[in-house]
Amino acid sequence: MGVDGDAEAPDLVLACGGERRALREERFAELRIATIDRGRCTKCLRCIDVCAFDAIARGSDGYPLVDEYLCEGCGACALVCPAKCVSLEPRLSGIVKLVETGLGLKIVSSEITAGSRATGHVVHKARELAKEMNPEMIVVDSAAGIGCAVISSIVGVDLLIVVVEPLPPSIAGARRMIELGKRMGLRMVAVVNKHDLNEEASRRVGDELGIEVVGYVPYDPTVIESYAHLQPVLHYDPNSRASKTLLEIFTTLVG
Ligand code: SF4
Ligand code: SF4
Repeated sequence: MGVDGDAEAPDLVLACGGERRALREERFAELRIATIDRGRCTKCLRCIDVCAFDAIARGSDGYPLVDEYLCEGCGACALVCPAKCVSLEPRLSGIVKLVETGLGLKIVSSEITAGSRATGHVVHKARELAKEMNPEMIVVDSAAGIGCAVISSIVGVDLLIVVVEPLPPSIAGARRMIELGKRMGLRMVAVVNKHDLNEEASRRVGDELGIEVVGYVPYDPTVIESYAHLQPVLHYDPNSRASKTLLEIFTTLVG
């Protein structure tokens, strides 16, 4: 079963045939936003003074206006409000969905709403939902970087596969990911993608990263074609160079 760990830009469902039907959906409201009852507000503006996040401003009509993207839900404004007209209302922060794709694959996608900072939490929930389905194997497609979503994607995994291209920015990003993996005590291997773009740099990747390289995937335009057709390359063209290499890597890893 696949889990899309890139909650800010989920695309795994699209890459695997698009959504045929949603089997389950969970919505999360981790954030609370200050909401002002204007009918009772006296326009004293004490709430503006107390907000440490500059999330409240005076509107042109004299009433306070809350910027929902800046509000941290701390509740200070509600505490000082003499009219007791501020309440903290839940705001949707993320959605986790178990989906059957057009190719019949089951994927759990994670998705945060605009302005939400709960990426790590949403990815954690997505992995929990996948575990509930009791599949033989769970593959988490993590976002790039070392942020909360990535930490939630890789914590506790049996194997971290670091996909790297033979280009300085990609190798620098992989180093940071590996440093994170080391701190978590994870078993790690690398796969070099588009290795033929720079053969010399590709050969050095293992030494530079200090982990075993288990495969070198060639640049193959079939991969781009498969994306355009909403299919994994292995399904779109099993005889392509990329597909054959990916299959070899998979066989090496799972024995
Ligand atoms: S503190 Fe309360 S009454 Fe005063 S402006 Fe803010 S919301 Fe209105
Ligand atoms: S809840 Fe906190 S962050 Fe939000 S508007 Fe009130 S004081 Fe500012």
